[in-house]
Amino acid sequence: MKILVLNCGSSSLKYQLIDMENEKVLAKGLCERIGIEGSVLTHQATGSEKVKINKNLPTHKDAVELVFETLLDKNTGIIKSMDEVYAIGHRVLHGGNKFTESIVVDDNVKKAIKDCFDLGPLHNPANLMGIEACEQVAPTKKNVAVFDTTFGMAMDEKAYLYAIPHEYYEKYGIRKYGFHGTSHSFVSKETIKFGNLAKDAKVIVCHLGNGGSVSASIGGKCVDTSMGLTPLEGLIMGTRSGDIDPAVVQYICNKENKDVNEVLNILNKKSGILGMSGGISNDFRDVENAANEGNHLADVALKAFKYRVAKYIGAYVAAMNGVDAISFTAGVGENDKNSRKEICDYLGYLGVKISDERNDIRGEERLISTDDSKVKVFLIPTNEELAIARETLKLTK
Ligand code: AMP
Repeated sequence: MKILVLNCGSSSLKYQLIDMENEKVLAKGLCERIGIEGSVLTHQATGSEKVKINKNLPTHKDAVELVFETLLDKNTGIIKSMDEVYAIGHRVLHGGNKFTESIVVDDNVKKAIKDCFDLGPLHNPANLMGIEACEQVAPTKKNVAVFDTTFGMAMDEKAYLYAIPHEYYEKYGIRKYGFHGTSHSFVSKETIKFGNLAKDAKVIVCHLGNGGSVSASIGGKCVDTSMGLTPLEGLIMGTRSGDIDPAVVQYICNKENKDVNEVLNILNKKSGILGMSGGISNDFRDVENAANEGNHLADVALKAFKYRVAKYIGAYVAAMNGVDAISFTAGVGENDKNSRKEICDYLGYLGVKISDERNDIRGEERLISTDDSKVKVFLIPTNEELAIARETLKLTK
């Protein structure tokens, strides 16, 4: 049984075709510049060379059509007929407080995704376009929406409510939702499986990529997570400030004669390690190189990033009254042994000990703590596409 997984952005569409018999990726690719001149599809069937197809793609429907054509093509393809694709799973950013689980798409679901446009203005419209494109191109296939926010829906009121007048929650659904939910759900469960831990193990997942978030979960069920109403809250990220005194917004508005939207744009796109380092880069590798060359601001930005992660881990140990395992994942978490080590150096009080030898790896599932570490620490590569494919199969079988 093969599941197609789609992740649509406003001008892009990423896809993977996964064989669910063995959970192996059969093909994957990316359509870029949808609706813009110079659109291109990069496609790779597993074990074959990458191919680039330049074709005008005015809409997401054209992109989905090209994806199917490419998957069916004699040379580039991997399937003989559309019938081989069992169902389609879609990553959807924001489900508001309407969805506590993934769901098979119908008209009500589409309306609910639309109702959340305000909460996910950049992603939800694109996600819906992807779903509607599939309905047109492959009308017999079931579409499943897998929301980034459903993991966080398990949080208790005391964790998700902001200390603002309650009417704003009731009127507008303003609360902490959390993001990277598919990744946190996948990695927390995989930690329990790979680490052979108790079913109700207390796990902290550090998803450290260009966007970053930390979650606390018990038995794979979210207790707390660092992102909020939007992905701006929490850690210091590539370009996002993370936690900040909201009064800073008003202060910058007054001093720089900017409006709230402009300042929020700065907090989302020009802050984080990019802003702290004086504009060097939002890429952790560039900032690390600058720090190694003696750039003080780059050094401080990276130290502040690790310090913030360690503070969240400490808070979540308190929230769960303990922790059995800590897992690192995503770009930085999977590839940067120094960040993993330096974050864990803050956790000596918990009895966390990292083995330098075990920690000397990238992108591989592995225990990286010593045998006598009181808390197990793992590197667990995330796999959001597989998580979406599993949900899709579960709901359509
Ligand atoms: P992601 O958003 O999960 O794709 O992660 C992207 C981030 O991971 C980028 O900022 C990269 O700089 C970072 N990254 C990838 N490899 C490394 C590495 N070896 N050391 C430090 N950061 C890395």
